[in-house]
Amino acid sequence: MARVGKILLLVLVLLILAAIGYQAQNVAVMGWDSVTEYQTPYLTNLPRGSAAEPLARRVVLVLVDGLRLDASRNMSRLNELRRQGADLSVRIGQPSLSYPSWTVIASGTWQEISGVTTNWYEGEVQVDTIFKAARDAGMPAVVVGGGGWKKLYGSHLTEFVKVPGPEDENAPLEAWVRMDEESFRLGMQALDDYPEGLILVYFGGTDELAHQYGGVSPQYLDEVQKVDGYIGRLAERLDPEKDVLIVTADHGHVDIGGHGGWERSVLHVPLVMVGKAIRPGVYTERLQADIAPTIAALLGLPIPVYAQGRPLVEMLEASAEAKGRIGLNAGLQLVGFYDAYAQTLGVKPFAGEILTKYRERLARGEEGALSGMWEEITARAQAARAKRFWRERLLRLPIALGIALVPLLYLLLFRRRLRQALLPLGFALLYFVFYNALFFGRGYTWSLSAFNSEAQIKAFFNGRLLDAAVSFVVAGLLLALVSWKRPLLQTLERMVTFAFFVGYLLLLQVDLFYWLYNIRFSWAIPDLKLGFKYYMDLLQMVPTGLLGVILAPLGVLIGWGMQRWRKTQGAQS
Ligand SMILES: [Zn+2]
Repeated sequence: MARVGKILLLVLVLLILAAIGYQAQNVAVMGWDSVTEYQTPYLTNLPRGSAAEPLARRVVLVLVDGLRLDASRNMSRLNELRRQGADLSVRIGQPSLSYPSWTVIASGTWQEISGVTTNWYEGEVQVDTIFKAARDAGMPAVVVGGGGWKKLYGSHLTEFVKVPGPEDENAPLEAWVRMDEESFRLGMQALDDYPEGLILVYFGGTDELAHQYGGVSPQYLDEVQKVDGYIGRLAERLDPEKDVLIVTADHGHVDIGGHGGWERSVLHVPLVMVGKAIRPGVYTERLQADIAPTIAALLGLPIPVYAQGRPLVEMLEASAEAKGRIGLNAGLQLVGFYDAYAQTLGVKPFAGEILTKYRERLARGEEGALSGMWEEITARAQAARAKRFWRERLLRLPIALGIALVPLLYLLLFRRRLRQALLPLGFALLYFVFYNALFFGRGYTWSLSAFNSEAQIKAFFNGRLLDAAVSFVVAGLLLALVSWKRPLLQTLERMVTFAFFVGYLLLLQVDLFYWLYNIRFSWAIPDLKLGFKYYMDLLQMVPTGLLGVILAPLGVLIGWGMQRWRKTQGAQS
């Protein structure tokens, strides 16, 4: 009777593991959707601040999609512009995808606040942009680019010039080369048509070729050289006494092609500014969110209301008076945004008192005042965000501890023979060795850059499900083989305990992420490296949970078969 009871108990454990595996799939989908369909709570209707005197008549922003910093250092025309102007790199935000980064460039607002977290973002952006600010000031706000620009910023523009290009991302190389040529031709046209305002010229072929051939491939680097030539010729068309040329990228690429994650070559991109009112020099790295406020300062526009960066006044040539106005405007804008931010987070507003401290120095246009104030406000905002995280972690702690401890009740099955659980535990660890060897051995990391194209996402996840299934079956069968001489009930116990430990160790990792960030993200985007790992852990729970139901009886069957075979061999001899 005790025997039957034990068998039933072991079968029950297998069924629970299968049910958890099945649920893990839903939790994984929930987490994924919660990032890709992230709804920002931060966009309250803030009023715009004041305008200042323009420093330049026209800003031409050239955006080279997927241009790596190292590749840009080999662009001879761009290097010439670097020597004449401000030469620096900017750090971008995550997810490091095109639409999210375009929106940072246009608004100065990071992904977590703008709510633009993917390239399949629907509709127009909800944030304020420099396009909208220019249009509202009666200036031309023109984009020469692909359809995505119209989708995201259509009503913010005074004119959208569509660059024709292939619909299919697998189009041949020549099609992308031609598309950049068209960007150049239509960009030159726009420079003739609009002697003032804001004009963005977008080159997208580079990114497509990096995706298809890789971020260090000759195909990509050749196209970078072509675009370098186009930039040189666009620059020749400008009047350095009236115009500013800004060249930057939305994100870089990993060597094999791909972005979205946190790799160095993805997160650091060039920024070159040259022309009227730009103070030449080599500068240390700044932020992608500084670009929009800087353009606003150049054109004398109010800073986009949700901007989190600041005008790079140290790179501008202007009177102390003009810098004072820019600094004060930026200070007031930051206070407006961060007071609303604090309110949404449920903390006491902190920006106003920091402004009071800096107000006089800002108004005098004092060097370093704006950056000092910005740093203080940003540090306080980060602390407020962290505080809210810790408050929520405290609330989740009982559940997280429960999830971590309750499954250990299973070990009561062993009572005084706990050492018997060590062998299954060893094979469970072997599962992790197999799975991770397959994962890291193929060169993957916990990064969204693993998806070189959107079409690959599903295939990538299916591949990892298969890796987990194969690793689980192989480790389990090895355990069955070393156990074949044992009584069959003991083999069953070993197989179930193996499945238990695989499931439990995955659950512990998932549980830790749950405790840190929750399973739904309503006000913050979690650390995406850990988020990627979390997603992979959940995916592993699916096949390992479901397959236990088959693998455990199979292990018993192998033991039974081998024991019988051994017996018949013995009878014959
Ligand atoms: Zn891009």
